Amino acid sequence: MKKFLILITIFVIPLVLNATEKPKLVATASMISDIAQNIVGDKFEVTTIVPIGKDPHTYEPTPGDATMVAYADVIFKNDLTFEGWLLKLITNSGTKANVVKVTEGVDVIESLTYANSADPHAWMNASNGIIYAENIKNAMVEYDVENKDFYEKNFEAYRKKLQELDEYIQEQIKTIPKQQRILITSHDAFQYYGRKYGIRLESILGTSTDAQAQTSDYTKVDKVIRESGVPAVFIESTVNPKMLQQLASSNDITIGGSLFSDSIGNKDSDAPSYLAMLKYNTDVIVKALSRKVQPKIAEAPEEKNNILLYGILGVLFIGAFLFVYRSMNQ
Ligand SMILES: [Zn+2]
Repeated sequence: MKKFLILITIFVIPLVLNATEKPKLVATASMISDIAQNIVGDKFEVTTIVPIGKDPHTYEPTPGDATMVAYADVIFKNDLTFEGWLLKLITNSGTKANVVKVTEGVDVIESLTYANSADPHAWMNASNGIIYAENIKNAMVEYDVENKDFYEKNFEAYRKKLQELDEYIQEQIKTIPKQQRILITSHDAFQYYGRKYGIRLESILGTSTDAQAQTSDYTKVDKVIRESGVPAVFIESTVNPKMLQQLASSNDITIGGSLFSDSIGNKDSDAPSYLAMLKYNTDVIVKALSRKVQPKIAEAPEEKNNILLYGILGVLFIGAFLFVYRSMNQ
């Protein structure tokens, strides 16, 4: 019996595994592979190049990534300047995979930092998420038309969830007092989010983390905090929080929480999926920005000084008037 089992292990299992080997789908970033997983179910083996929690802007591919890409059947990329390292990886791997741009059809926002450059963070609003999911579904139907109905059905169910989330975010942001709807983060990942849901954005770094913050950017954001009295700033899971912590402590305001922008969280985190990431970000933002703001005491002395100045000027004016009046009557 034992011998029989060993024979099965050596000869039969590898044959079965080989026969049922699934086509391979590779996504550059974790939010894209999560969306794809919802569409393809168990029909594909889904892998991600940039590991969860790592920064896709500054990622350096490993030899393992080259192998992953070489054996891929379909590759999903965000594009819009997000994966600057991808073209070289694809070329060097010699892959024959279909490379699909999932942002096709998105209303692209120009980068505020770099001229003639696109802001890549289109997934940050849920209605763009629907475009990502639809592009992925279309690519799957093209690759594997036999399972067209399966992909269409999955897409429809997922689209509904995204639509509900889109409405939820819209309603939630509206509950923040209007003058406090300012989102201050490390890097400019929230423009698509802010424009869709009505929240003003300020960040220290530009649309890529692959840049040094300028003193002027820091001063600009510092000024926004002082003038608006916004109660919190936010760090991001993939970006060094040092500068944001400095801004918060020098202005005596809180860190509202850690947001997920360029990666979803791991399984045990608050944002283990793309849907969860957008919902979690929204809940954290709404909670921190809805806090009542105390009026700044620092403004009072200046006001007092002004009243004193006007008082002195008034007394001088009346004195001068009386002096002239008396001189004329003498
Ligand atoms: Zn980013």
